[in-house]
Amino acid sequence: MSSNLRAENRKNRRNERNETRREEINRRQNERNEARREEVNRRQNERNEARRVLHRCGMHCIARNNVFIENNYLGEINHNCQYCGAKKFLNETHFLCCHSGKVVLPPLSPYPPLMVDLMTGNHVDRALNQNFFKHIRNYNACLSFASFIATIDPPSNRGPPCFRISGLTMHRIGNLRHLHPPAYCQLYVYDPNTALNFRMEQNDCCIRELMELLQTIINQENPYALAF
Ligand SMILES: [Zn+2]
Repeated sequence: MSSNLRAENRKNRRNERNETRREEINRRQNERNEARREEVNRRQNERNEARRVLHRCGMHCIARNNVFIENNYLGEINHNCQYCGAKKFLNETHFLCCHSGKVVLPPLSPYPPLMVDLMTGNHVDRALNQNFFKHIRNYNACLSFASFIATIDPPSNRGPPCFRISGLTMHRIGNLRHLHPPAYCQLYVYDPNTALNFRMEQNDCCIRELMELLQTIINQENPYALAF
């Protein structure tokens, strides 16, 4: 046998050994992958089954660990602070109100009579009062000084209603330049009649007479409105 032929045979045997080794490595790797996949699927199925059982029991799985929560009853809110008269539960401490009389706030100033009548439903004009209750959010929003802005980020899972925001909260006061219809704080710069027109343009469900009364109260009583 020539030396060239012997070298060729050695090369072939080496290639066969390498090929066998590669096949063995691939086989073991596939076995490990398969075992891992089965384990992951088994655990996922267990979690899904546990979740289905809890859901049938009326639980919402909102916590990381699914534990049954015992009811916690605080009793009635009938313990009055002896200093400020705040109503509290039995075990609430004095830090929650006036710090045992150390904090004394000035009494609230009297409510404007029109607001008392409207809020208690005793205004002489029934239609006006009903419109006030029905569109109270419109009246409140268009007379406010700023709007609340935030990125609302509700939880993706099931669970009780939850208001969650992400990042900063901001308050918009309206542009000082006349680029958009004026709003919020900007409206208090305007002449009251012009401001009333703008407010009614944006809220045609409201009654102009009532809007004017509310606007007048704020212009006369609110310390921030008086600053303009
Ligand atoms: Zn108190």
